Amino acid sequence: MVGPADVDRLARSMLALLGHDDDEHPTATREATGTWSKAPDFASDPERAAAVKEASARDRERYLTAGLTPVDCRFCHVTVAVKKLGAGHTAVQWSSEATQRCATFAEVRANGGDSSRSKSCPRLSDSIRHAVAEGCLEEQSSAPSPGDG
Ligand SMILES: [Zn+2]
Repeated sequence: MVGPADVDRLARSMLALLGHDDDEHPTATREATGTWSKAPDFASDPERAAAVKEASARDRERYLTAGLTPVDCRFCHVTVAVKKLGAGHTAVQWSSEATQRCATFAEVRANGGDSSRSKSCPRLSDSIRHAVAEGCLEEQSSAPSPGDG
């Protein structure tokens, strides 16, 4: 029996996956507000109802991860969420914790720089390249880019 509470728990565990291992900062989790009350009533068909709930949970999981793959910086061991958009194109999502912990960004801050203006940790870029080379990152765009055989 999978209820909304289980879905919520799943959603949270997916979020935890994207973040770093220790969860120090309280994250504002969105409440599941009335999602199920608005859904059609399958009370007469419990099997169908279960299937619908399961599909919704899968959708939510897919939305949360949406092609994001956690990649560890091999140098400073922070985890960021990476999405491969195409050949040589990756989108990197830094959590605030990762930004805090990254040694490169810490150095920038120590030197009076603005870490938010540094695009990325070069060590992490390296780690991402490795992840791509090892096939750890799946390309999201299915459309072939023109002029790129
Ligand atoms: Zn780093």
